[in-house]
Parts: sequence; structure tokens; C-alpha cells
Amino acid sequence: MSITEPADAAERRAKPAVICYPVQALPQPDMALLGRARERLTKTDEVIVAPRDATTFQVPKGHFFRIVGIDGPQVGDLNLWNAADLSERFFSGKTRQLHATHVSTGDRLWSSLPFLRPMATITHDTLSWYGFDADGGGVHDVIGTRCDPYTNRLLSGGDYHNCCHSNLTRALAKAKGLPPAEVEHHVHDVLNVFMCTGFTRDTQQYFMKASPVRPGDFIEFFAEIDLLGALSACPGGDCSATHSSDTATCYPLKVEIFRTEPELLVGWTSPEPSAYPRTHGMTG
Ligand SMILES: [Zn+2]
Repeated sequence: MSITEPADAAERRAKPAVICYPVQALPQPDMALLGRARERLTKTDEVIVAPRDATTFQVPKGHFFRIVGIDGPQVGDLNLWNAADLSERFFSGKTRQLHATHVSTGDRLWSSLPFLRPMATITHDTLSWYGFDADGGGVHDVIGTRCDPYTNRLLSGGDYHNCCHSNLTRALAKAKGLPPAEVEHHVHDVLNVFMCTGFTRDTQQYFMKASPVRPGDFIEFFAEIDLLGALSACPGGDCSATHSSDTATCYPLKVEIFRTEPELLVGWTSPEPSAYPRTHGMTG
């Protein structure tokens, strides 16, 4: 059955676009305070993430962490959990709705329901100059999920064990001393660090293009709560052509953890989980 446009189609399409959430009501991070705190950082730990693999790291609340490009252009897939409760984890979809498809300095990474609080605040991003390019591409997206062996099998018929989903699963399994199958369900949609992505103008399909990241670039976060993080160095490398295979050139990534001087955090408090009573309208 063919579909024909109604006579008022143009009028219907011309309705104004309205931002979904009244985001001006969002609790704002004190960027001036965090800016002063980040001027006095002392490195307390550092981990290297091998290409096509992932590593976990711990960040105490009130500390900063950086994800740093080192040897060449490389994309990273980031998972975050409450260090004390894996059921509270990064909520990519809500972060996208509250901020945008791509995040940068001043944006926050929000946690899953029923917690919904900022887990981390982005305090510096050396790629913030990129903005949105002529294709509509931007850096650090919260629209992609993570490359995974199930989708790869669906599309290619083969099995590949170094997709970000598997890398993150192995890293969490090692950290928890559990078999992969027992932790896999904790792995969640990622922040695509350094990845350059967007939607094609004509078909609105998810696209990727070569990451603009270069050695020395970093994105920096302030941990609002105690965090367990996991970072995968994606088998797509700079994600200019392909992923879910050993084809692309891949590089390691570095994660650095910093403490600041406690007196510089006077006035900051770690956010509490949402106070919604969770009755969902049911009584009795
Ligand atoms: Zn990946």
C-alpha cells in the first residue's frame, strides 16, 4: 500500500524543534572550583591499556583521571561503575538526552536508574576545538554502544574475541576473579573516547571517521563518586575504516589517576543517589 503525503505535510514538518529536557534546571558542576583543584594535581597511579585489550582502574571520589593518547591515534571505549555497587553504572542514553550526542568539558557522565547522579564531570578536553565537522561528526560520542562479537557474528558470520565488549568483559572478570559469563551483564554502553562519529545527513545512519586524536591529547574527568573504570583500546584503532578484526592499526592508551589538595575541594560534596521514593505510583 503506497503512502501519500497529507496536504499539510509541509506545515507539520515546519513545527519548531524543542529541547526535550529543561536542562537549565540541571545541577551544574562548580567548574571554577574544579578548575582550581586541577591546577594542583599529583599523579597517584597510571595504567597502560594494550591494543585490542582492556584494563580496569580505580578512582577514589574527589580524584581526577585522564585518558591519554600515547603512541598514535586510538579510540577507547569507557565503562564506569560505582566501585561499591556494580548495579550503578554509566547511563549513556540519559547522558545523551541531558547533554548531547557528544560530550566535552563541563558535561557529566550520569549513572543508571534508580541512582541517576553524576558519576564524573569532564574537566578538560584537548579535542574540544573539534566541534562538529562538515559531515556532522563530533568527538567523544554517547551514541554508539561498543563493538561486540554478537553483532560481528550476525553481520560477518565469524567469531572475533577482541571486540570492546569482550575486552571489557575479560578486564572486569580479572578484576573480580570471576568467569567472563558471570560479569558480562555488567558491561554496558560506553563513552566512545576520542571516536569521531555522527549520523549521515541523508539516511541518518551512524558513521565513524578517522579520529583527530594525536599523541598527548587527553580527556580529563573528576570522579564525583568512588569509581571502578574499564577502558578498551578498540580493535578499530582510529576507527577510520573498520573494527571487529585485526585489520586496523592499533595503539595503546594510558589512564592516569591524580589526587588534588583536599583544601581545594572545600565546598564540593559527593552527590547522593536520586531521592525518588520508587513507589511508581503504587500504594499499599
Ligand atoms: Zn570497539
